[in-house]
Amino acid sequence: MNKIILLALLAACSSCYLSNQWDLPAKLNPVVQADGVTQEMWEEDVQLAANVWNEWYLALGCQPIFSLSPDGYPVYLVEDLGEDRAADMDFDDIRVEVLSHRRIMLQHELGHAIGLGHNDNLDEPSIMWRKPKPTIGVQLVDAQRAVEIYCE
Ligand SMILES: [Zn+2]
Repeated sequence: MNKIILLALLAACSSCYLSNQWDLPAKLNPVVQADGVTQEMWEEDVQLAANVWNEWYLALGCQPIFSLSPDGYPVYLVEDLGEDRAADMDFDDIRVEVLSHRRIMLQHELGHAIGLGHNDNLDEPSIMWRKPKPTIGVQLVDAQRAVEIYCE
């Protein structure tokens, strides 16, 4: 393989999250694995983040995309992910550290679950910035890109 092809493949990996997309619409199962936060509090956080996406979906003419269910994808609240990470998502779960802005991190990881990659345009407020801002939740541009990937 020549170097140019290899570089192209590496660059394409900025959208690798697309392959991590969950089965949609997705069920979410909040699970607490950290001290100081009750199951009830965490369920409320996850429900609120799900509602943010659901309201955008409804506004853009699509069915709600997330619901809470004990048989859904686990959404873990954890003590420490290490390596300066606040949250991550995978093919089969989401993990979020105990943080003051965990509701924003949830909105971000749910964006990945829909299939969104990161938005590197810092002139365009977005929940998909690599480092989400606590004051910037899901924006119209995020929702528009999400419904292009999935809308029922
Ligand atoms: Zn991310």
